[in-house]
Amino acid sequence: MEFKDLGLPEKILKAITKLGFVSPSEIQEKAIPVLSAGEQDFVGLAQTGTGKTAAFGLPLIQHIDFASKDTQGLVICPTRELCMQITKDLISFAYYQANPNIIPVYGGTSISDQIRQIKRGAQIVVATPGRLLDLINRKAIKLQTVSRVILDEADEMLNMGFKEDIDSILEQTPAMKRVWLFSATMPKAVRSIANNYMVDPLQIVVGKQNSVAANIDHRYYMMKEKDRYYALKRILDYYPDIFGLIFCRTRRETSLTCDKLEKEGYDVVALHGDLTQGQRDAAMKKFRERTVKILVATDVAARGLDVHDISHVIHYNLPDDIENYTHRSGRTARAGKAGKSLILINTREVGRIRQTEKLLSASIEYRRIPEAEDICEKQMYALMDRVVKTPIDDAAIDRYWPVFYDKLKDLPTEEIVLKFISTELNAHLDYYKGAGDLNADQEKGGRTKGPRNEEGRFNRNVSGPKKRYTLDLGENQNMNKGALVRLICSETGIESRQIGRIEMHSRFSYFEVDESVSSEVLPKLEKGTYEGKSFNVAVSKDQDGAGSYTAKDYGGRSKSGNSYHGKNKGPKKDYKKDYKRGQRKKY
Ligand code: AMP
Repeated sequence: MEFKDLGLPEKILKAITKLGFVSPSEIQEKAIPVLSAGEQDFVGLAQTGTGKTAAFGLPLIQHIDFASKDTQGLVICPTRELCMQITKDLISFAYYQANPNIIPVYGGTSISDQIRQIKRGAQIVVATPGRLLDLINRKAIKLQTVSRVILDEADEMLNMGFKEDIDSILEQTPAMKRVWLFSATMPKAVRSIANNYMVDPLQIVVGKQNSVAANIDHRYYMMKEKDRYYALKRILDYYPDIFGLIFCRTRRETSLTCDKLEKEGYDVVALHGDLTQGQRDAAMKKFRERTVKILVATDVAARGLDVHDISHVIHYNLPDDIENYTHRSGRTARAGKAGKSLILINTREVGRIRQTEKLLSASIEYRRIPEAEDICEKQMYALMDRVVKTPIDDAAIDRYWPVFYDKLKDLPTEEIVLKFISTELNAHLDYYKGAGDLNADQEKGGRTKGPRNEEGRFNRNVSGPKKRYTLDLGENQNMNKGALVRLICSETGIESRQIGRIEMHSRFSYFEVDESVSSEVLPKLEKGTYEGKSFNVAVSKDQDGAGSYTAKDYGGRSKSGNSYHGKNKGPKKDYKKDYKRGQRKKY
């Protein structure tokens, strides 16, 4: 099928040709004829990357009277990034219209500028819910003339807690409007929006729900928790031409990981909610323009990010919610290209890989964390490719040539080449000298060697005395064993091997740690947060009959102020430390 068969007018077809779109995607084929005809509410279940912006954007442009200054189209989406992206796309779809005024409004930036822009007469407003409601409350935007409301990534807006804002916005739009809703999934809350605000909507599903693009290669790597960061670096080093995204679970993990990588000379930038809008814009600009090759982000911040040709999505930690895995990996393999989605897990998280596979109906292959030789080989071949492609700038070389020539003239050509190669190779070999193997033992089902306790769970140190704790986070709070190990390790500096048995219940969990490090648990863990919320931790009542007591019994919160990363600088590996920024920049 071609775009001209979908019922779109000439000016829009011209804009499509200008964009270089040749044939419509599946969602476009299914949605455009319905939305172009115009009089029905619509639900489209589709992932990002399927071309859904054009699926609603092209017919939206068709229904707007650009001779009028009234606001006729309202697009509501979860994040600032998506808001800007949609606006950019709509502007390109409206390229051949006379006087289009399509504006984005989002929080964290001057509202008065946005009010001024709306007052000038915006036919389409693309908004995040909070800011739009603010504008409505200030009577800065009139909704009486709105004929079409589009809710994009509805499931994500509800996940982010925008339900009340959306209700309130929809209640203030005219009864006769049409609502087009797009969502990757259809949880109850999204269905209730459809039931409350839409009349007999036509529902179209594209692909399987929770499905991921077929051209994504899913792989997982398994290491001990303490080696997670080092495994990440190995993977980055193994892919010298990477242009990728690293997803972390929390803002803190995002900024810590990014800082560490940056200090070690990687081209990285962070994107998360603790940054100011200016910082987030600057980060996106650097990534989009490829000034940096790696963006380290939280799920929420990277929502709607549409950057072309992302080669790898790395899950530094698996998301708690499988839907986020789909969203994350959908950043690569866009518009028919191939991509890799790489997951790092610790030895207790193998079960989550199997769960993810089941839900995605896609297989996730095990891969060994690259070892020194694999990385050197890759880096050297990448260097060769660059050498072959590098143009020679005669004028620039002239200045150095006499000295170079003089020094090298007595060496045979082959030796000169070998010496240049060795300069690079030796740096790699030195860097990885004695680096060892970070793979946790896959053959043993993810367990490193050692005895097992009576429940069949691995416990390296069963003989040593343990202290048992309880905390009020369980399966209902998205907690699982892997996440609990991560939480304990990152908040207290305790290593995963010092954590014993873990028991998960629906609203709480138990865990054991070596007696020798137990003094770290309450003062530090009590300060922690999980998914942005604080929690309670106490010595388990059945531990020693002492009853529950908390950090306060240890004199309140930690006085040292030492964080894990300040105090415990990770494994004393013999590599990486001296691989300085300047050196790495060469690659
Ligand atoms: P979306 O799902 O709307 O975020 O679109 C994903 C990417 O595919 C964007 O970069 C679009 O520009 C691109 N795209 C959308 N529709 C088409 C099409 N019919 N042909 C080629 N590229 C497309």
